[in-house]
Amino acid sequence: MKNRILLLALTSMLTAWSWGKTIYVATDGDDAAAGTIKAPLKSLPAACQQASAGDTVYFRGGTYRVTDDQIMDVKGNTAFVFALKKAGSENGRTCFMGYPGERPVFDFSALQLDGRHRIAAFYLGADYLHLRNFDIVGVPVRVKGHTQSECISARKGSHCIVENIAMYNNMAIGYYQTAGSHNLVLNCDAYNNYDDYSEGPYGGNVDGFGCHVIKPTDIGNTFRGCRAWRNSDDGFDLIHCQAPVLIDHCVAMYNGFRPTADPHNTTEFKSAGDGNGFKCGGWGMEKEKTRCIGQSPKHQVFHCVAYYNKANGIYANHHLSGNLWFNNTSAMNRRDNYNMVNRRSTEAGDNIDIGGYGHVLIGNVSWNPNKQDLSNCDSTRCFLSNNSFAPTEIPVSESDFVSTDPALLFLPRDAKGNLPHSDFLSAKQESVLSQRNMGWQ
Ligand code: CA
Ligand code: CA
Repeated sequence: MKNRILLLALTSMLTAWSWGKTIYVATDGDDAAAGTIKAPLKSLPAACQQASAGDTVYFRGGTYRVTDDQIMDVKGNTAFVFALKKAGSENGRTCFMGYPGERPVFDFSALQLDGRHRIAAFYLGADYLHLRNFDIVGVPVRVKGHTQSECISARKGSHCIVENIAMYNNMAIGYYQTAGSHNLVLNCDAYNNYDDYSEGPYGGNVDGFGCHVIKPTDIGNTFRGCRAWRNSDDGFDLIHCQAPVLIDHCVAMYNGFRPTADPHNTTEFKSAGDGNGFKCGGWGMEKEKTRCIGQSPKHQVFHCVAYYNKANGIYANHHLSGNLWFNNTSAMNRRDNYNMVNRRSTEAGDNIDIGGYGHVLIGNVSWNPNKQDLSNCDSTRCFLSNNSFAPTEIPVSESDFVSTDPALLFLPRDAKGNLPHSDFLSAKQESVLSQRNMGWQ
C-alpha cells in the first residue's frame, strides 16, 4: 500500500514537472502539418487546438496577417480573436512566444467584423499563460460611440506573464486588465496607439497600459520595465481599480498627443486625449463614492519617469485615499509634474476638489514643470520626505543630470527585452540628488 502511494505521488509529480511539447508556427506553414519545426502550422488557432496545458507555441519571424476567419470566440459585443484558454500551472505555464532571435509581428488591420464588435486581439482567458517576444500592430476599432479595442485583453487569467511585447500603430489600448491577480507585465512597450474613429479625432480612450480590476481580491498585479509613449490618452491608467497595483521602473512620455509618422519625434505635438503619464486613482466621482469610501487601494509607483505628457506627469486623479510614490522623476509635463488632487469624499453628491491626503512621497524629483512641481496636496495629511519640492525645496537644474536628451528614452531593448541604463535625467554623481538618493535612476 505504502509503495502504491509512493508510486502515485511520484507519477503525479512527474506529470506536473514534465515539460510540455513544443509546437511551431510559421508564416509559410500549413495548418494541416504536424506542427514541428520542419513542418510548422500556419495559424495561432491551429496551434491552440494542438496545444495542451504547459505546452510552448513558438512563432517563427515574419508578419502574420490576421483575418476574420481566424477569430476564435465571439461573446456579447466582443470578438476574442486569439482566445487563449488552456491554463498552465505553477510548474509550467502555457507559452506563446516569438522564436528566440526572431521577431514575429501580428498585424490585425484586416479585421472587419461587420462593424459590430469590440476587438480583444490576445485574450488572457486562463491562468498561468506566458506571452513573450512579439509585436502587435493594426488592431482596429470598428464600432462607433464610447467603445474600445484591446491588444492584450486580461479579463480572466491570473499568474500570467506578458513579456517583451511591443504594441504600436493600433487603434487599441495596449494592455487592458479587468480581472485576474498576480499578473506581471514585464518589459513591454505601447506606443503610437490612437483611435480616431469611434468618437472622432479626440482619441480619449486609448491608454498604453491599464489595470482596472473590479474585485479587491485581485491583488499582486505589476507593471515593470514598461514604456508608454504617444498613446492618445494616458500612459498608465488605474482608474477605478479595486486592488493595489505596483508600477515599477516604467516610463511614460508624450502621451495625450496624436501619433506621428516617426514615433520618436520629439518636436511635433497635436493634442488628443487626457494625457497623464501615471494616472492612479479615479474613485472621487460622484457615482463611485458610496462603494469605495474607505477602501481605495494604495497603489505603488516606484522608480518611474514621466516626461512631457500633455497633462500631469504623476496624477492621483481623485483617489479617495493615498498612494505610495517613491523615487520617481517627473519633468516638463504640460500641466503639473505631481498632482495629488482628491475630491471631498465625506458628503454625498459633492464634486468639490480638495488637496489629496494619505499619500506618501519619498525621494521624488521634479524638473522644469510647466505649471507646478506639486499641486493639490494636503501636506498636513500626507507624508513627504526627501523630495526636490517638499518638505523643503531643493533647486533642480539641467546641470544636475548626466543628460536631458529625451532620445535616450527610446534606447533599443536587448534580446531578452531589458532596457540598458539610460542617462536621461539620471543624476550626476556630484549632484545633491545622487547624494540624497533621489529620482528614478
Ligand atoms: Ca480618457
Ligand atoms: Ca485613460
